[in-house]
Amino acid sequence: ARILGIETSCDETAAAVVEEGRLPLSNVVASQIDLHAQYGGVFPEVASRQHIRTIYAVVNAALEQAHLSLEDIDAIAVTRGPGLPGSLVVGLNMAKGLALASGKPLIGINHLEGHIYSAWLVSENQKDHYPPQFPLLALLVSGGHTELILMTDHLTYQRLGGTLDDAAGEAFDKVGRLLGLTYPGGPAIQEAARNGNEAAFHFPRARLEGTWDFSFSGLKTAVLRTVQDLQKSGRGLPLADLAASFQAAVVDTLVTKTLQAARTFRVREILVAGGVSANQALRRAFLEQREFRVHFPPPFLCTDNAAMIAAAGYFHFLRGHRDGLDMDVLPTWPLFTSSINETLIPS
Ligand code: ATP
Ligand code: MG
Ligand code: FE
Repeated sequence: ARILGIETSCDETAAAVVEEGRLPLSNVVASQIDLHAQYGGVFPEVASRQHIRTIYAVVNAALEQAHLSLEDIDAIAVTRGPGLPGSLVVGLNMAKGLALASGKPLIGINHLEGHIYSAWLVSENQKDHYPPQFPLLALLVSGGHTELILMTDHLTYQRLGGTLDDAAGEAFDKVGRLLGLTYPGGPAIQEAARNGNEAAFHFPRARLEGTWDFSFSGLKTAVLRTVQDLQKSGRGLPLADLAASFQAAVVDTLVTKTLQAARTFRVREILVAGGVSANQALRRAFLEQREFRVHFPPPFLCTDNAAMIAAAGYFHFLRGHRDGLDMDVLPTWPLFTSSINETLIPS
């Protein structure tokens, strides 16, 4: 089946066509990063208006690049939440219009579920890629979320824990800002860290023993104090060392707890997704351990895109899930079908 995906939850206007939940036939992303960079973050009103300007052209481009028309599509999957209400509604209305005009089924998708299913997508040069196997542990690390999720099957999500304060991507963005780097901070810190010494500064790793939770606000504050002390002493900032040491602390925190959880819940494989899963140091750390096979999305599908929404849509489509034209956006939609409190902890 071929699914048309539409994503407008934040500051990316995106559309894509995906075959069998795995192969993107097209993937169009109109990023608003340049538009928001002047604010150092996403400005909701600006985002919504920009989605309206670009959505039609983006959807047409996705169909054109796939050499398909709407008649060749089996269903339309669209991000229903979580996200900015004014942004979500633009994609949802576009999807409804297309569904009404074509008679094709409409499926509302959770954006976080989309990030998880980005790990099912293959890029052209990955024909031998095999899909993630259950039971698996998903580490979702994005701009707004840091969650450990147990999946025993498709479309079932048990929440083990998550961040108590900043999301991993948010920590990258905030530290990037205080180091004077360009927005978004994640790619900028990765670049700045390239020639840095990750042992130059020892930043704290919040362990939160006995839970599957994370915390990054202490780390962010530690970087801030170090920067202030260095500035007071009148020396220039060793940007590469600061970036590398901060990045190493985030990576260490994420990898340590994820491996612990993977052992405890005896999963077969690990899946890492969300914008921060593009981080090369994080990928290296997960690939260097030999205990678990780790799946990542293709690097260009880690940040927001519509191929991941179409991939998740495919699995809902197979199960016969359909939404009506009266579907509304859910700006705070939680992903989880249950939390660990309802789960039997393995002996
Ligand atoms: P959410 O999905 O939680 O609603 P979002 O959609 O804004 O949030 P994503 O698009 O998944 O988040 O990811 C964006 C985040 O990923 C930003 O915080 C950005 O700094 C971070 N990021 C992107 N590339 C990298 C990288 N190479 N290293 C570290 N962080 C990165
Ligand atoms: Mg974004
Ligand atoms: Fe996202």
